[in-house]
Amino acid sequence: MPVVDAVDLVREYRMGTETVRALDGASLTLDGGQFVSVVGPSGAGKSTLLHIIGALDAPTSGSIRVDGVDLTALSDDAASEFRRRRVGFIFQFFNLVPTLSAWENVALPMLLDSRSLAKAKPRAVELMERVGLGHRIDHRPSELSGGQMQRVAIARSLIMEPTIVLADEPTGNLDSHTGADVLALLADVAHENPNRLVLMVTHDAAAASACDRVVTVSDGRVAG
Ligand code: ADP
Ligand code: ADP
Repeated sequence: MPVVDAVDLVREYRMGTETVRALDGASLTLDGGQFVSVVGPSGAGKSTLLHIIGALDAPTSGSIRVDGVDLTALSDDAASEFRRRRVGFIFQFFNLVPTLSAWENVALPMLLDSRSLAKAKPRAVELMERVGLGHRIDHRPSELSGGQMQRVAIARSLIMEPTIVLADEPTGNLDSHTGADVLALLADVAHENPNRLVLMVTHDAAAASACDRVVTVSDGRVAG
């Protein structure tokens, strides 16, 4: 079963009397165990597609299944639970909580899911080790480099063992060397679990070349 199965997605936004078609019949099938990038010009519909796959937004029409779940049928609460349990999010500017230590940032999604600190802490520490930051668990985000902050964010994205990790320009704020390290880590994260998909929106041609597959979005459709 593919992780993402999208058919004929249309997403319209109404702006006063105008209607903008952000997606105009986008279809896409993606398997697990892969690191896939989404590229295309600004305004092509990449973010809209990523948001629909992450159950942050719903299509106007079309069908979308992620991890076997029909996202068009979810209530707001069910969509929220789907995001918490099955999706990891990684952002360009890391979105770490500045007042929490690195391991506490990693543990946060589990604590927000009502898991105990006793369960969350060892898992967070293990993930900090997994991303090469076992020696930085008590540091605050401001005491870490950009590459280290993104590694913390990657560890955080994995703590609920998501089927899909969505990364929006994860190297956009990193120099090319640090960015390459982060891309290699994201590729490992995808390849170590045949059921897991890592899907990244990027403008960076080098980033796309680190991927197993490149999906091009153009005028609201998937070109290839
Ligand atoms: P990309 O990520 O490829 O730059 P987007 O998915 O952000 O493209 O946007 C696709 C199109 O939809 C653009 O024309 C954009 O202006 C429009 N759009 C996206 N989000 C909204 C919104 N919330 N309201 C109105 N128009 C939007
Ligand atoms: P809840 O509804 O349980 O409070 P949310 O739905 O706000 O939780 O968030 C669930 C997940 O979706 C979180 O990991 C959060 O980071 C992510 N998220 C929420 N809103 C956005 C957004 N606009 N863009 C990207 N990720 C988001």
